[in-house]
Amino acid sequence: MSYVFKKATELQALCEQLNVPISEIAVRYEMEVKGLSREQIEHRIKTVLAAMGKAIITGKTTPQQSKSGMVTGDAYILEQALKEKPEMIMSDIAVKAMVWSMATNESNACSNCIVACPTAGSAGIVPASLYAVRERFGFGEKELVAGLLNTSAIGLIIEENAMMSGASGGCQSEDGSAAAMAASAITEMRGGSVDACLSAASLALKNVLGLVCDPIGGLVEVPCVKRTTFMVMNAFTASDLAIAGIRSKVPFDQVVDAMRRIGEQMPSALRETAQGGLATTEVGMHVKEKLAQEKEVCTPLFEKPERDE
Ligand code: SF4
Repeated sequence: MSYVFKKATELQALCEQLNVPISEIAVRYEMEVKGLSREQIEHRIKTVLAAMGKAIITGKTTPQQSKSGMVTGDAYILEQALKEKPEMIMSDIAVKAMVWSMATNESNACSNCIVACPTAGSAGIVPASLYAVRERFGFGEKELVAGLLNTSAIGLIIEENAMMSGASGGCQSEDGSAAAMAASAITEMRGGSVDACLSAASLALKNVLGLVCDPIGGLVEVPCVKRTTFMVMNAFTASDLAIAGIRSKVPFDQVVDAMRRIGEQMPSALRETAQGGLATTEVGMHVKEKLAQEKEVCTPLFEKPERDE
């Protein structure tokens, strides 16, 4: 029997046939396609989870400052605020998840080690969601491993049928994909059915269709770092709706197809070229000029030095 799938309908059929969750099909897929044992795959997953946890710790315990000056340690600021317990609308765990997501993406902006899941720009969304749900419900490593496997199945469907980078489909396909992956994963971790997982993924992705990629100065900093926190809340909302029994009227495959078509119709100015949107605001243009000046100053460093013969 083959566990290879490309569509959510095929994944769901396999799950129903074997009466197993998405994560189980994902691990069997990896075993079949990569020729690895279950133990080898789980070992890799645990290594990835550890790296994700490390990026969170780095980002939240040290104020991170990027070279451009646009990332200034907001994860650290929010972490400190959480300790002082100001009145927040959202629960402690939701705010913690925001810290963890920002911490990861600040680590990315400052060239520290992160796990691109599915991309560097969206790196904080999956780890923050998974770790927050583990803490909220007192789960262990087993649920985290299942969660990450689940994300791989959802990500694979998106990659097979649409795109996953801001440059090809806008931020909907980068952060939107990560939010869909996280929504499905945490729904499985919480005991949701396969149908609930796919609905959560649909709801999270539908919510951000059309989102453009317009990073200031072409750097993955603004709006990217803070945007990941909103995406974690997107995943939480989608999962809560699905767990409550609410289903997406549009199935996941059709949502992915809509995302692909929107991405293809999106002008290149709004696909990571920094030629539109926020990148061309007054602030965006100022940063662009500053970066260009710094580049000019730095250029001689890379020129071949003249030699005395
Ligand atoms: S705005 Fe563009 S670069 Fe930034 S996270 Fe979204 S897709 Fe990535």
